[in-house]
Amino acid sequence: MKQKAGMSPAAIMALTMFMYILFIGFRHTTAHFPSSTEKLRMAQESIPSAEGQRVDNLWAYYLINAENPLSTDFTVGLDYVQGSFMLDERCAGYARDMIEAARADGVELTVVSAYRSALKQQENLDNYIERLKQKGYNSSDARRIAEKEIALPYMSEHNAGLAVDILTPDWWETHDDVTDEFDQTEQFRWLDENAHKYGFIMRYPKEYENVTGIIYEPWHYRFVGVYYAGKIKESGLPLEYFYKTNF
Ligand SMILES: [Zn+2]
Repeated sequence: MKQKAGMSPAAIMALTMFMYILFIGFRHTTAHFPSSTEKLRMAQESIPSAEGQRVDNLWAYYLINAENPLSTDFTVGLDYVQGSFMLDERCAGYARDMIEAARADGVELTVVSAYRSALKQQENLDNYIERLKQKGYNSSDARRIAEKEIALPYMSEHNAGLAVDILTPDWWETHDDVTDEFDQTEQFRWLDENAHKYGFIMRYPKEYENVTGIIYEPWHYRFVGVYYAGKIKESGLPLEYFYKTNF
């Protein structure tokens, strides 16, 4: 009898994806898991491979999340983007170009957050927990809610200097918090059409909260390089899925 061959690459890929979905997909509540395994598999198969293509800014193409924190000795060279807000000096210019291009189209993008140190990250988290407690939540509920919306130190893309939060210039006149109403603005529409040309993706899409572990954040843009930003936008997938099949 012929010896049975090992698993085919396709089978290994399918198994890897299955395990990944099990781990990430069901780690958080599964009340409305956005996409069937089958749908996801088809989407992933349609992503063109980067093989043989020139990929820019590969240094920026990596995952930062609860499962993939930055090392605690992480350091980064910074450069200004807008006002006092800074990003990694290697991508700050891309953000400045994006802001300028939007302005040329008559759209003012206002940066409200960019690089944050891990210490600042902890402060933000603590402050938010305090605010929730003042609203009447008990300590453990306040912490649980806050940690769903604000990453722990070293687990935020802001700590890497790769993420920028963008709102409208008059946002705080009509809002006291950042909300997904931002996706109703011309700033969002412009970013949706153009951010990828400058290497940025909307990192936490709607319907993939169970995958990213982060709420829908139409204001949060993450630098991954122009090549991958285009491919990721085209795929419609969150970076977690895309990255697993494209590296
Ligand atoms: Zn952000």
